[in-house]
Amino acid sequence: MANIEIAAMTGRQVMLNADVIEQFGTGLRGGHLLRGDDGYDAARKIYNAMIDRRPAIIARCAGVADVIDAVNFARSNHLLVSVRGGRHNVSGKAACDGGLMIDLSPMKSVRVDPESKTARAEPGVTWGEFDHETQAFGLATTGGLVSTTGIAGLTLGGGLGWLMGNYGLACDNLISVDAVTADGRLLIASDSRNEDLFWGLRGGGGNFGIVTSFEFRLHPAGPMLGGILLHRLDKAAAIIRFYDGFTRTSPDELGTFVGFVTSPEGERVLAIFVCYNGAIEEGERIVKSLREFGPPLADTIGPMPYVQVQRMMDDAFPTGRQNYWKSNFLKGLDPEAIDVIVDHVEKAPSPYSAVAIEQFSGAVNRVRMDATAFNHRNARYNLLIVGIWLDPAAKAENVKWVRDLWGAMEPFSSGGVYVNYLGQEADEGAERVKSAYGPEKYARLVALKEKYDPTNLFRLNQNIKPSAG
Ligand SMILES: Cc1cc2nc3c(=O)[nH]c(=O)nc-3n(C[C@H](O)[C@H](O)[C@H](O)COP(=O)(O)OP(=O)(O)OC[C@H]3O[C@@H](n4cnc5c(N)ncnc54)[C@H](O)[C@@H]3O)c2cc1C
Repeated sequence: MANIEIAAMTGRQVMLNADVIEQFGTGLRGGHLLRGDDGYDAARKIYNAMIDRRPAIIARCAGVADVIDAVNFARSNHLLVSVRGGRHNVSGKAACDGGLMIDLSPMKSVRVDPESKTARAEPGVTWGEFDHETQAFGLATTGGLVSTTGIAGLTLGGGLGWLMGNYGLACDNLISVDAVTADGRLLIASDSRNEDLFWGLRGGGGNFGIVTSFEFRLHPAGPMLGGILLHRLDKAAAIIRFYDGFTRTSPDELGTFVGFVTSPEGERVLAIFVCYNGAIEEGERIVKSLREFGPPLADTIGPMPYVQVQRMMDDAFPTGRQNYWKSNFLKGLDPEAIDVIVDHVEKAPSPYSAVAIEQFSGAVNRVRMDATAFNHRNARYNLLIVGIWLDPAAKAENVKWVRDLWGAMEPFSSGGVYVNYLGQEADEGAERVKSAYGPEKYARLVALKEKYDPTNLFRLNQNIKPSAG
């Protein structure tokens, strides 16, 4: 059989014997895919269609043993590796060109223990799937705002979502993880075992190993009050001024996000997304003034199950569109900053693009700063500029729009960035990863990288480099 050209960690192409690849692939319980195989394209494609990469081999992992085999195969052959969880990372870290994609998407089990209010989930699970299982018992944990995002990447980077005011970030709800490290060992990490690894995996991303099991703390969730308030864009500054004051005194149960979006009728509008995770009547009382102010063009707020809240934004984020995002934490909601956003939103080249202002509060702020690698607990607002469009030929104008707005918002930024929204290093610059952690945490993460992944096998993530690398 002919040899196969494959990308090495060094960036060079190396030849691997086809029999060796075949032996590796057939040894996996989940099998493997090569270019031209049925299912290869479906497995390699990620959320962001702007990133179109073709791994030489896709290891379809069905369980921990497959992950260990794939890590050992990659390490011993010095291969370029990417790890695919829910494939939502917009900078395309789940996919590599010419290397080995370790695809965790077949690993779908979720086991809920309603008595201890805990759940164990494998890394191929999405938040929609996780919540489907936990909500059978009226339980949930903080997960993403969109149901199709993977639990793995989101939790490893921190994980903000509807329930974070009550329960902290997704990573704050981890009790333990099982992780396969670069040397092919399976380590269990928790507050009492491999504590340093556990610290780094809560915010430090996929740098230190492949997590094969997440154990989460669960909490009662729903039915709850959820929905959207829409306002005319020319009222945005006044609405947001009110919103800023309102959320300063709102209880932990209330999760809200602001979005500058295009309505189904084609009008640019300001949207306030609302989720009140508490008694419905109390929620009605709490959100009354927010619902009345304006008044809004539309108000969809009403009682609903948590899974419905959690799918509220799904239609705006289908897989397969062109995506270019940029983000920064904000110092506050300066009226001047709102004017800048409104001005740019009015000129957005694509109706699918949006600007989000995400509010951090409550339990997120109360977790000790040094408890996890996540570094932005004191931030109040995060700005996320989401460029989404259909035609690949329209890349230049859409990327420019995102970059221009991001640049114009620089004076209002606090300088830090959320790792899960970081773009490609070539685009952002290596310094931006540091700004995601701050100097102290970054240094601690580099030391962890040296301990658990000294050759930087796991490099397609929020790339913390060992000091030698
Ligand atoms: C539509 C959309 C909505 C989003 N909403 C939110 C939100 O509400 N809150 C929020 O915090 N973020 C949100 N994000 C950002 C999201 O957290 C990141 O994109 C995250 O990286 C996605 O994780 P994933 O498993 O889906 O992605 P992937 O692209 O599969 O993986 C992301 C990174 O994690 C690594 N990785 C994946 N699985 C593992 C594993 N088991 N072990 C080790 N490393 C692994 C990958 O190698 C990659 O580097 C959203 C993104 C999108 C596109």
